[in-house]
Amino acid sequence: MEHYDVLVVGAGFAGAVTARRLAEDGGKKVLVLERREHVGGNAYDGPGEGGIVIHFYGPHIFHTNEKRVYDYLSRFTKWRDYQHRVVANIPDGKGGRLQYPVPFNLTSLETAFGAGEGKRLGDKLIAEYGAERKVTILELRQNPDPEISALADYVYEHVFVHYTMKQWGQTPEEIDPNTTARVPVFLSRDDRYFQDAYQGMPLEGYTPLFERMLDHPNITVETGCDALKRLELGSGVVKLDGEVFDGPVIYSGQADELFAFRFGPLPYRTLDFKFEIYGGDAVGGGEEYFYQTHGTVNYTVDEAFTRITEFKHLTGQKVKSETAIMKEFSRAYTGAEGEIPYYAIINPENNALYGKYAALAGAYPNLYLLGRLAEYKYYNMDAIALRALELADSLL
Ligand code: FAD
Ligand code: UDP
Repeated sequence: MEHYDVLVVGAGFAGAVTARRLAEDGGKKVLVLERREHVGGNAYDGPGEGGIVIHFYGPHIFHTNEKRVYDYLSRFTKWRDYQHRVVANIPDGKGGRLQYPVPFNLTSLETAFGAGEGKRLGDKLIAEYGAERKVTILELRQNPDPEISALADYVYEHVFVHYTMKQWGQTPEEIDPNTTARVPVFLSRDDRYFQDAYQGMPLEGYTPLFERMLDHPNITVETGCDALKRLELGSGVVKLDGEVFDGPVIYSGQADELFAFRFGPLPYRTLDFKFEIYGGDAVGGGEEYFYQTHGTVNYTVDEAFTRITEFKHLTGQKVKSETAIMKEFSRAYTGAEGEIPYYAIINPENNALYGKYAALAGAYPNLYLLGRLAEYKYYNMDAIALRALELADSLL
């Protein structure tokens, strides 16, 4: 068998970024093992039905304030300027529906309460917290002022509680406060979902970005290969195909699975995606056909799914009379065949269980847990790419 200096498990952002840096800047021979038939991890995209590009594991929008991450990834892709905008779609109480920006902002206030009253409430919030401030829903709900408290209850009811129940099976109070803090009330007219300095979509998609990143003479990628069938962990030594492997092993799969669920499984949420195609001959000939006004529409009060994403808004792909959308349904991960653990359920109890697995990993001096699964964290793409660059720094 060929000699490798580094073993990487998983070809998502965690694995691909470390592999490239160690191969290119460290001159290391890197073997990447990926269980799926493709690279890219959950960011994998490509043409679906009718040739319309979709994100197979949920909508991915790149955004970061980390220039280092942006510059690094920019070596492997050009970017399409895209500023993600999301609206909540809710019943208007009169038999119709209304939409307003999420994060809930000054425009949302005016849509919900009318121009005059909305403006007055907005001014009051600004006097209390400051213009352009982001206030989490849990913080807003602490405010003793009866008017602000009533407003907080409105936002809680119309934006947070039902969506959070669908997504997590728990209320906003029960889940990790950092989760709802990702989508604060924003005392601004800025209706973008993210305010990061760098935002966009890889011009030709995420998959080509990964293919270029992994295309290096020192990198060998084996897809369709479950690393756990070839790895053996015993008494402080990692073995690959029965031979001791003493180079760095960077593992981006589940920590519990790596140790055969010794302490029981780590809880996760999984998602069912329902892809649908709309348009076709019936709408042909006119303007380009879109299903909805925004890249993502959140159904924050009703419906069984959390949100609908329409990919053409994100990718900018021109397909005149057809469009592809995706509905996301969240439920508990059971570990059944084919299910994917998407979201760690972060709470003190689960973190403690994770800590036991991390401690086991700590007994292997050349084993590094890296990534959303391996670290049981809620990383965005840029955050895990930065962690990967930093791990590579420390290994070089
Ligand atoms: P992954 O992408 O999960 O990659 C891990 C890889 O390891 C997988 O390919 C897996 O098959 C492989 N693997 C696991 N076990 C083994 C094994 N035993 N052998 C071989 N291979 C194995 N982030 C953003 O910045 N913006 C967004 O808009 C955004 N949207 C998201 C939407 C959804 C629905 C979800 C779930 C996540 C979203 N994210 C977003 C987060 C983003 O997906 C993660 O930050 C990123 O995928 C983390 O990369 P990773 O390498 O840690 O994990
Ligand atoms: N959230 C909500 N209503 C919304 C949007 C978000 O209640 O309209 C809450 C919900 O708990 C969600 C969390 O905020 O899980 C984080 O939302 P984000 O859009 O960042 O989730 P992701 O895109 O990572 O699934």
